[in-house]
Amino acid sequence: MTHPRLRPDLQLRSGYHSPQVDVEVRLNTNESPTAPPPEFNQQLEQLIAQVSFHRYPDRAAALLTAGVASADGVGSDMVVCANGSNEILQATLLAFAGPGATVVVAEPTYALHSHIAQLLGCEVATVGRHGDFTIDAQAMVEAVNAKNAAIAFVCSPNNPTGTLEPLETVERLLNETDAMVIVDEAYGQFAPRSVLDLDRALLERVIVVRTFSKTWALAGVRLGYAISSPSVIAGITQGLLPYHLSSLTQAAGLAALSTAPSMAIRVANIVEQRGVLVAQMAELPLTQWPSAANFILFSPEGFDADDLWQQLVDRGVLVRNCAGWPGLGNCLRVTVGSAEENQRFLNALREVLQ
Ligand code: PMP
Repeated sequence: MTHPRLRPDLQLRSGYHSPQVDVEVRLNTNESPTAPPPEFNQQLEQLIAQVSFHRYPDRAAALLTAGVASADGVGSDMVVCANGSNEILQATLLAFAGPGATVVVAEPTYALHSHIAQLLGCEVATVGRHGDFTIDAQAMVEAVNAKNAAIAFVCSPNNPTGTLEPLETVERLLNETDAMVIVDEAYGQFAPRSVLDLDRALLERVIVVRTFSKTWALAGVRLGYAISSPSVIAGITQGLLPYHLSSLTQAAGLAALSTAPSMAIRVANIVEQRGVLVAQMAELPLTQWPSAANFILFSPEGFDADDLWQQLVDRGVLVRNCAGWPGLGNCLRVTVGSAEENQRFLNALREVLQ
């Protein structure tokens, strides 16, 4: 039952969520299959011991911001951190779009791009993708120009398809439109290339969004960040509340950064496991799409995806049901887990499909 005083446009919308079903093998939200290494806990304990909890946190999160910037090879004034990349997206839309402004997304993509935009009173214009799920760049350029859009979203690798977007798409948006371009690289470290490989001068209009939730194995902390030019970063900061990032979050981020080598090993392992999953899924009656992320989109052949989803749950394996998403009829998405989790998933999948 929705409250009668709830904003009328929200009465019609359901919230966004993946069901949190209590099963043994959770491969539905693209988390890291393993926890951060023990050094993370040791570092965190030391950092927390130094926190003055009766004081507000460092408003600029200066140490963390400098650490993130140096890890990604940019200046400290080119980074802003927030509570997950979702908060970065919200602050960016507040600062650079706002009520009545138009943002353009290419469906199917990460649902929160349009969800947050609509919560903030933005208009969302939708364009399609090619058969390989790369963005129809021509259609996006035309939609941005027709609507005089404030923001164009590029998600690369794209969630939930795993598609690595050609860098030319971003270049075209910059050359042929006036919009700011948000490049969501939540899964960037799993991919062979990043928009950061382009000329850094482009960051005057490109906002790269990244997160500690996936590669850094810190989904529970809620930490994400944006990389852009100093003036854009200053703008995004205006969309954030003061003292938004707690001392605990700042400490956790710093502790994680001190374990960077183990992050690189974890990412390499996940990419290797992705290869194992792809090879074994290729033996089964299903279609799968090439992924540059830590998940794989697939569609069972001659079998109902809703039914398969339920049968996997019955066998203790939770994947994401994408069958109701625009353009993804009969598709499911599985997160690359540990070798054991992937085997459990494959066994269950074989049992159901064969
Ligand atoms: N962007 C994309 C493409 C995602 O898939 C996700 C998480 N599913 C996020 C952003 C948000 O991540 P977080 O808020 O945990 O940083």
